[in-house]
Amino acid sequence: MTTTMSRPTTRSTPKLDAPEVVKGLRTAFGTGQTRSYEWRRDQLQAMKRMLVEREPEFMDALAADMGKPPTEAYAADVGFVVAEIDYTLRHLRRWMRPQRVYAPLVTKPSRARLMREPLGVVLVIAPWNYPVHLLLAPVVGALAAGNCVAAKPSEVTANTSALLARLIPEYLDTDCIKVVEGGVTETQALLAEQFDHIFYTGNATVARVVMEAAAKHLTPVTLELGGKSPVIVDETANLEVAARRVAWGKFLNAGQTCIAPDYVLVAKPVADKFVEHVRRAVFDFYGHEPKDSPDYARIVDARHWQRLVGLLDSGTAAIGGQHDEKSRYLAPTVLRDVAPDSPAMQEEIFGPVLPVLTVDSVDEAISFVNDRDKPLALYLFSESKDVQERVLANTSSGGVCINATVFHVVVPGLPFGGVGPSGQGAYHGRSTFETFSHTKSVLHKRARPDLALAYPPYTERKDKLLRRFL
Ligand code: NAD
Repeated sequence: MTTTMSRPTTRSTPKLDAPEVVKGLRTAFGTGQTRSYEWRRDQLQAMKRMLVEREPEFMDALAADMGKPPTEAYAADVGFVVAEIDYTLRHLRRWMRPQRVYAPLVTKPSRARLMREPLGVVLVIAPWNYPVHLLLAPVVGALAAGNCVAAKPSEVTANTSALLARLIPEYLDTDCIKVVEGGVTETQALLAEQFDHIFYTGNATVARVVMEAAAKHLTPVTLELGGKSPVIVDETANLEVAARRVAWGKFLNAGQTCIAPDYVLVAKPVADKFVEHVRRAVFDFYGHEPKDSPDYARIVDARHWQRLVGLLDSGTAAIGGQHDEKSRYLAPTVLRDVAPDSPAMQEEIFGPVLPVLTVDSVDEAISFVNDRDKPLALYLFSESKDVQERVLANTSSGGVCINATVFHVVVPGLPFGGVGPSGQGAYHGRSTFETFSHTKSVLHKRARPDLALAYPPYTERKDKLLRRFL
């Protein structure tokens, strides 16, 4: 593969004045222009135009940052956001409509409604692994809900960050959407300001920094984090299909996916066969030499590459293991003989290294998962309905795929998010709109009749009626 990876030094918004940025957004929000359906629709259409018209530039930036194969760059970054925009535009009018709810007899005559109103000025902080998708998908919902947005792309994918900073003002309302480039200093300058919501995607260490800053202003947060997403493969699974789907989900973006299968717990009697099918799948996907495949990405930077190469000592490389520092290449790798207390089993791997551990039973696999942090995703490969129900009933995770990996992320009706250490809050489809809206509870009454039922002085009759009609 000829990679054109180039790394400009970290870019920052020149002389960032965070209070000015937020003040500007607040002034724009105060004009009320973002509240109309038309404004929201126009912004979403403009964002779609930007993604469609400038697709080649996005592809180039993603290839330069991490050697993203064009198909993956489209499906998981640019095209993903286009699909979110289309879905949102199809439903937005309905989502914005107030919703009637039941009002008890004691309130009658009355009308109770839920109204979705924008939160105000929101901050979206994105990581590097899907740098277009993870910045813009939340922004789609934030704009759909009528907010003004400060958007902070990851400095790690500097080419994509620069492109977003250049194109967003070209297409979208510059008063209401500001892109702030930079790293820790700029993010922390933003976090010192008061927002109405903070949407953070990234690692749990920085999530604590975000939460602490948010606490100062009592700002609500959505945290989209990561963790070790397990795969359970039982004896009834179609091993060939399981291996292909696990290999695809794991080696997509060279494993740098928050919901990548992190490790496999496979039933002992079928473990060897499963690994052989993974070997076949890797060969089918990337050929003899994955390094030369145009469909295999690179590790984002030297720090992550070194961290991942360090994990290879956690077991025996049954597949892959080859690596090259200069091109930040790490082969699709399967590790066996991995001890549960080895480094590869301590932290989220976030790279193309897949430990395969064996278990004696599904119950052992369930206990293994439950002894660790609640994962962002859990994948089960089994043809047994009983096992499927047992795993669903006895484990907790942000999401689950049965006989698949990663694909739950593309279903807009399935809110995407973690639980406990893997995150809080969720988005995609309508839930992104809900995340960035306040649901205001409204009760309408007319002046007349003005029944004295609830007013003192209380009488036995009033008491009796209230008990009946409440
Ligand atoms: P990153 O290094 O790009 O950091 C994320 C953001 O935090 C960046 O915008 C960065 O500027 C900012 N940041 C970094 N350090 C900071 C600090 N000290 N103070 C304030 N801001 C700071 O990305 P990352 O965290 O390495 O991303 C990888 C992690 O994100 C993995 O754990 C992965 O599982 C998780 N992730 C989760 C999802 C999801 O949707 N749940 C998606 C992608 C990635």
